[in-house]
Amino acid sequence: MPSNVVKRQPQILLTKELLAIALRSSSESILIKDCDGIILIGSQRVAEFYKCSVDDLPGLNSYDALPAELAERIRQRDQFVISSGKAESSEETWDLGYEKRTLIVSRSPIRDATGVHVGIITCYTNISPIKQAFLLFEQNQKRFTALAQTCPVGIFECNPAHQLTYVNPEWERITGLSTQEAVGKLWTDFVCAEQLPLVQHLMSCEDSYPGGDRVDCTLRGRNECTVELSLNRVSDTQNFTVSFIGSIVDLTYRLAAQQEIREKANLMRDLTSSVPAIIWQLSVDGLCIFVSDYFETVTGMPIETVLGKNWQEVTHVDDVPGAVSSLNTVLSEQQKSARYEFRMKGKAGDWRWMLANCQPIHSMEGKFMGVAGHTIDITDRRIAELELQQYNALLEERVKERTQELLKVNDSLVSEIENRQYAEELLEEKRAQISHFSRVSVMGRLSGELAHELNQPLNAIQNYVASLSKILASSPASDTTSHVLSRLSGEITRAAKIIRRTREFLSTAKHKPELLSLSELVLDTAAMLKGEARRRGMTIQIVDIHPDVKVLGDPVRLQQVLVNLVLNALEAMVDHPSSNKIATIEVSEMADHVVIAVHDSGVGVAESLQDRLFDAFFTTKPTGLGMGLAISQGIVEDHGGTIKYRTREEGGSLFIIELPTVSKTISGSGAT
Ligand code: ADP
Repeated sequence: MPSNVVKRQPQILLTKELLAIALRSSSESILIKDCDGIILIGSQRVAEFYKCSVDDLPGLNSYDALPAELAERIRQRDQFVISSGKAESSEETWDLGYEKRTLIVSRSPIRDATGVHVGIITCYTNISPIKQAFLLFEQNQKRFTALAQTCPVGIFECNPAHQLTYVNPEWERITGLSTQEAVGKLWTDFVCAEQLPLVQHLMSCEDSYPGGDRVDCTLRGRNECTVELSLNRVSDTQNFTVSFIGSIVDLTYRLAAQQEIREKANLMRDLTSSVPAIIWQLSVDGLCIFVSDYFETVTGMPIETVLGKNWQEVTHVDDVPGAVSSLNTVLSEQQKSARYEFRMKGKAGDWRWMLANCQPIHSMEGKFMGVAGHTIDITDRRIAELELQQYNALLEERVKERTQELLKVNDSLVSEIENRQYAEELLEEKRAQISHFSRVSVMGRLSGELAHELNQPLNAIQNYVASLSKILASSPASDTTSHVLSRLSGEITRAAKIIRRTREFLSTAKHKPELLSLSELVLDTAAMLKGEARRRGMTIQIVDIHPDVKVLGDPVRLQQVLVNLVLNALEAMVDHPSSNKIATIEVSEMADHVVIAVHDSGVGVAESLQDRLFDAFFTTKPTGLGMGLAISQGIVEDHGGTIKYRTREEGGSLFIIELPTVSKTISGSGAT
C-alpha cells in the first residue's frame, strides 16, 4: 500500500442493500447463490445472461438456464468449493448450445457467523474476444514472419525506442549482419552519419508515413550498401506507437544498371554524333525522346527544339500531313516500317529535303516501346534528280525534233528510192533498147548476107519451078517430078526458117527463162553466121557439143551473146594474114556449170586494152559501137554467169563464158 494512503474506520456499515447496490452497478458478472445453487443476488451482467432484471434474479435456480451437461459440471465444481471451503479460479469452456465461451471463473465459499459453508460467490470473466484477438494476432504474426522470410526486400521492425526487434533474411543479406548481431541495437546506428538527420526527420513526423516515405541512404552494416529506405509507424487504436516497420531495397544493382545505362546512352550519343544522319527515337505517344547531335548540324538549332515534342516545328507546313500519316502507321503498329520525304528548316534558313526511315522498337518482352529512325539530308540528290528530269525533258524534246528530221529524211529517202527505182526501170528499158539496137545493128551488118541467104532458096525455088514447068510440059509426073517437088518444099522451109530466126532475133518482146538446149543455140548461131563467114573466106567450127547440155535462160539474149562473140572473131581475122581463118565455138560441161569458149586466130587484144574490153563504148573499129561486149557481159551476169577474156598462146582471142547448169540456174534464178 502506498505510504501516503491512511487507513480509517468507515462511517456506515456494509448491509445487504448496500451490497446489492454495489453489485448492480458492477460491470462484471458476479453471482451469489446458496448451497443448492439458488440465486441470492447477481450483477447486471448475470441478469442479462438469465434474460431478466436484477430484481428478478433472487430465487432463480442458477443451473436451470444451462444445458444439462454444463449445469452438472458447474454444480460439481460449486459443491467441491463449498465442501472443501477453498476458493478456486480456472479457465472454463462453456458450450451453451448457441455459443461457445471461454471464461475465467473464480469461486469462493461463503460461511455464516458459525463458520458453516452456506453458499458460494462466483465471478465470471468472458475472455472469448481476447482469446480470438490473440489467435488472430498469432496468425498475423506468423503471416508477417512467413512473408518477411521470403520477401526479396529487407524488412526490419523496432520498438518505439527504435531498438531492432526483428530483421528478415534479405535485411541480413543486404547489411551482412545476422539477426543476433542486429536485434536489440538501435537501428539508427546503422545509418550513415551524414544521412542520419534526414532519416530522423522522417521518424519525427507524427503522422504515420503514408505508404512509407522513401529515402535513399547508405547503411553501415558489415557491408556498406546503398538502399532505398521506407518506414512505417505501427500504432494501436489509441494512436500510441506500437512499433516501426521498415524496409530496405538494395540499390547497388539498380545504381550499377543506371550507371551502365548512362554510359551506354553517352556511347550511343558519341556514336550517333559521328553518323551523318539524324538518329532519333519517339515514345509511344509520338514525342521525341532522343535525337542525335547531327540535328544541330543540319538545322543549326539545339536538340531541345524537338526533345519532348514532335517535329512539326521544324517541318515544312506542306509536308506535315504526309510525314505524320507515314509515322502514324508505325506508331499504331500497322506497318513494320515507314519511309517518307519531307522538308526541314536548314541552318541557312533554307528548306532541306530529308528522307526518314523508321521502325517500331520493342522491349525484350515484346512490348511496344515507340519508334526509332534516322533521317538523312537528300537535298543534293533531289537537286540532281531535278536536273536529271530537266535534262530528260530536254533530251525527249531533242529526240522529238530529231525524229521529225529523220522522218523528213526518211520521206526524202523514200522518194529518192522511188526515183531510183524509176531510174532503174528507165535504165532497164534503155538497156533493152540498146540491146535491141545492137541486134538490129548486127542484122544491119548481116542484111547483105540475109538477102543472099534468102536469095539462095528463092533462086533454087525459081529453078525448081522452071524445071518443074518443063517436066510437066513434056511428060506426066515422074520420080524426077516428085524429087523436084520435095526439094522445092525443103527450100521453102529453109527460107521460112531464116525469116523466123531473124524475126525472133529482132523481137523486142521479153522472154521468160526457159530450158534451152545449148547445142541447138550454138548450131542456130553458126547457121545464122555461116554465110557471113563464107563471104569472108572463113569457117565457123563447133567442137564437143553434146545434145543434152541444157541451160535455163532467155534464148534470144543468149544467142545475142554468141552472135556478138562470133562476129567479133570473124572481124578480128579479116586483116590477119593467117591461112586458117576459123572461129571456133567449144562447149564443155563441168560438175555444176557449162563453159562456152569462143576463140579465133585473129589479131587479139593488146594487153593495155584488155581492162577496158567490157566497158561500154569501147571500140577499136572505125564504125564500131563498142556496145557488143558490154551488153554480152550484162546478159551473162543476168543469167548468173561470168564472161572473161584470155589471149591465146598460139595467137588470137579466147572468150570464156561460164553458165550455171540447169539445177544451179533454177535455184540461183539469175536468169531474167
Ligand atoms: P565493136 O565490135 O562495135 O567494136 P565490141 O564491144 O563488140 O564492139 O568490141 C569492142 C572491141 O573489142 C572491139 O572494137 C575490138 O577492139 C575488141 N575485140 C572484140 N572481140 C575481139 C576479138 N575476137 N579479137 C580482137 N579484138 C576483139
